[in-house]
Amino acid sequence: MFKKSILLLSVLFGSLFAAPIDDIGALSVSGTQVVGANGQPAKLRGMSMFWNIAQEAGPYWNANVVNWLAEDWHANLVRAAMGVEDNWGSDPNLTSEGYKGYEFDAAWNQAMVETIVDAAIAKGIYVIIDWHSHWTDDPSKPERQAKAVEFFTNMATKYGQYPNVIYEIYNEPGCGADDDCWNKIKSYAEKVIPAIRAVDPDNLILVGTPSYSSQVQIAANNPLTGDNAFNVAYVFHFYASEEWHYNNYMGFANTAMQKIPLFVSEWGLSPASGNGTINYSWLDVFFNWMEEKNLSWAAWSICNKNESSASLQTSASPNGNWAESDLRESGTWLRNKLRTLNPEWSAVSGGGSAISSKQKSSSSLLLQGTELLLNLNESANMDLIAISGEVVKSYKNLNANTSVSLQGLPKGIYLVKLQSKNSSKSYKINLQ
Ligand code: MG
Repeated sequence: MFKKSILLLSVLFGSLFAAPIDDIGALSVSGTQVVGANGQPAKLRGMSMFWNIAQEAGPYWNANVVNWLAEDWHANLVRAAMGVEDNWGSDPNLTSEGYKGYEFDAAWNQAMVETIVDAAIAKGIYVIIDWHSHWTDDPSKPERQAKAVEFFTNMATKYGQYPNVIYEIYNEPGCGADDDCWNKIKSYAEKVIPAIRAVDPDNLILVGTPSYSSQVQIAANNPLTGDNAFNVAYVFHFYASEEWHYNNYMGFANTAMQKIPLFVSEWGLSPASGNGTINYSWLDVFFNWMEEKNLSWAAWSICNKNESSASLQTSASPNGNWAESDLRESGTWLRNKLRTLNPEWSAVSGGGSAISSKQKSSSSLLLQGTELLLNLNESANMDLIAISGEVVKSYKNLNANTSVSLQGLPKGIYLVKLQSKNSSKSYKINLQ
């Protein structure tokens, strides 16, 4: 062991698997697929938070829940669905006074989003910043689009350097199922996207589509062009137990996917209302199709509302650590799928205060200044990989106990992959 105070070091203990952000890296669009840094489909799978302005959801908007979804559910994606034009203060279905969207209280809403984004970045998973609106194109409310530009400029300025962050600029446009609706969405997108790109040149942007983000084939006929089309995917939503969705939506998407990349930023097991009987045979067809097409997805939703698309019972603590009895039917099904499809991992991203709680390793790796100190069980090959996915340095047959100088490398987060005779391990370092 190194006889140095670990408090003074930027220390990260490794685990068997890297965090999703290290594994998948920066997202981009390649042809009609959303891909990771290695060019393969990103396959993000996770959960959408329910509206932050709802009493049944707001208390769950915290880092403990994000951590629990990552660790226990194996979610590699979480979506922060921030209300915009909605004011639920007088909703009679709410047990107490509800909250109001960004239009009414920008600071309060933005702070809730930042809580989720900060937690996702710290944990090493992806996060969608969702402008959860149906009426941003309302011609009688031109200030709404200006507020979206303001909000996304703030978000891009704060988070654009983190590859974890995805911008969803318009959840479900309610303007219709025709070219006219798409032209309104497009005109709005052509305002917001340049504002984001002015400060963040590269993170993935999701653009909503006509008829509540279902009629993606309309967008595919006349997609965004030029700089506005760079690293943009189009939003496709469905509710598996809605007969009309089941009969039509996969066809819309199959047609669209010949021309444009899709991202399922929201889908539910339930009928479209969010409530009602789950049709498991339709659900299986929809879900298997989505997986076969390598679509990334976030399921609706994390909240304890009394409806079948909700994942949680009212017994579910606002701090995660949920028992199976705290989950509703949707939550149980989704957790099982996520745990089956997404790999388990326990590394934690961040600035050096990380903890690996699940799989302690007897070997360790310490970064002291620009010296990387290895304390391994056996000699190993080591790759140093930038967050972009580029291998910046490779070392062969390093001694089990040695140090390597990283002087001269740009500051930032790197993935350290160690391959020895008997094991393969990944660590994350934050080079200052
Ligand atoms: Mg960026």
